[in-house]
Amino acid sequence: MKLLLERYKEFRNSVLSANREFYENLVQGQEPETMLITCSDSRICPESMFGYKPGEVFVLRNAGNIVPSYGGGSSGGEVATIEYAVAVLKVKHIVVCGHTGCGAMKALLDPQSVSSLPGVAEWLRSAENTRRVVMESNVKADLAQLASVASRENALCQLDNLRTHPAVASAVRQGNLQLHAWVYKLEDHVVEAWNPETNRFEPVMAEEKVAV
Ligand SMILES: [Zn+2]
Repeated sequence: MKLLLERYKEFRNSVLSANREFYENLVQGQEPETMLITCSDSRICPESMFGYKPGEVFVLRNAGNIVPSYGGGSSGGEVATIEYAVAVLKVKHIVVCGHTGCGAMKALLDPQSVSSLPGVAEWLRSAENTRRVVMESNVKADLAQLASVASRENALCQLDNLRTHPAVASAVRQGNLQLHAWVYKLEDHVVEAWNPETNRFEPVMAEEKVAV
């Protein structure tokens, strides 16, 4: 808590006072072009990584960057948040950004580990498609390696789930919305994006090495 209050004080004293007009204009409304869906993991700090300012990116975060299918029951606030972003704010891009070393992915592949956490177990059922894809892929690896595979597969599976949302399906069909699956690799800070033309995750910066 002390950290938050100290940083807020810094914000008031330096950032806010130096950019008063910019912050005053935010009162008028928001027109973000991109929606970012990422994990709640504290090590993922998208504002730092992508350098966006207030008003530029509409963000949805939860454990495992999961998008429950439309009408699937376990929606929480995700359905409303996505509907608002697409139908009202008319974002042009939705990026689902998972990450390696994701605790939610490990739990997804090892349901016994969350048997005493009924809320988590219920939430992870929304990513059952990811679990099945990974477990039936015949990849021979330990849990940590499989979880990295799951991080990538999960980002793709959540694009499938996104398309079940009527507002998303309509905007995509009209050519007004593009969906993107990304993975941030904690171990080397490389962000990879799914390339549907090569069927691979590839670094978003061309000069970075592919490590799939
Ligand atoms: Zn995570």
